Amino acid sequence: MDELDERLYYEDSFLEEFDAEVVSCKEEGHYYKVALTETAFSPETSYLYSDVGTLNGTVRVIRATEEDGRVIHYTDQPVEVGSIVHGKIDWEYRFDMMQQHTAEHIVSGVIMTNFGYEQVYSKFTETEVAIVYHGPLSAEDLEYVERRANEIVISNAVVETRFPSKEELESMAYRMDDVSEPVSRIVLIPDCDICACRGPHVMTTGEIGMIKITGSDYADGVTQVTIISGHRALVDYHRKSAIVENLSKLFDAPEDQLVPQIKKLKEWIEA
Ligand SMILES: [Zn+2]
Repeated sequence: MDELDERLYYEDSFLEEFDAEVVSCKEEGHYYKVALTETAFSPETSYLYSDVGTLNGTVRVIRATEEDGRVIHYTDQPVEVGSIVHGKIDWEYRFDMMQQHTAEHIVSGVIMTNFGYEQVYSKFTETEVAIVYHGPLSAEDLEYVERRANEIVISNAVVETRFPSKEELESMAYRMDDVSEPVSRIVLIPDCDICACRGPHVMTTGEIGMIKITGSDYADGVTQVTIISGHRALVDYHRKSAIVENLSKLFDAPEDQLVPQIKKLKEWIEA
């Protein structure tokens, strides 16, 4: 257990399958905690959820965490210590996570560059990403942020990963998503963001497809911005279009007449 595991996703975030030796397998509660010599599973962090997938096709990896510098795979069945297992991450789940995560870098980079606000923290869920910033952002500010973020997506810039030396780090201006973590890896998006981060990202910004700001809330000097990106944005567009279409049929009115019609109805009910 002396040598730490190799993180295959550091260099290749598009690696879906790999082989590794089982270093340990311990039963804990309903799960088995498995450590491997190398892994493509990225563990959960203070803000990002982990990969899920399988070992040997049938052993499910439900969650991955980091303990003592090692990735611990939570599985539903045991695997033999010393054996070689075939790991496979759930690609659809990972790619969606990389789209949301890289979008978070872009939005935070745009806000830092244009408004000078630090990101306080971010929280990723399976529906949206909530990011909190030190400062107020008006509706016009957010409209600009969304437009600029999507310009960076369309520019299809290469997302660069660096492992700088201590000396190089000292002369580098970068953001930190988690200040409690030691800095080992820098993720760079040209003309946008430089951030210390150990998670997986897309290779080029165009792979995000689209970034949509879905809400914002200002209180006590901080603004929480929620975003959805990639395929999730398309699904949300479909959902909202269906609502508008149904309302349009219900009121027998074109889309741009819906708000005045509903307003009129509300006034009539309240009168
Ligand atoms: Zn990151």
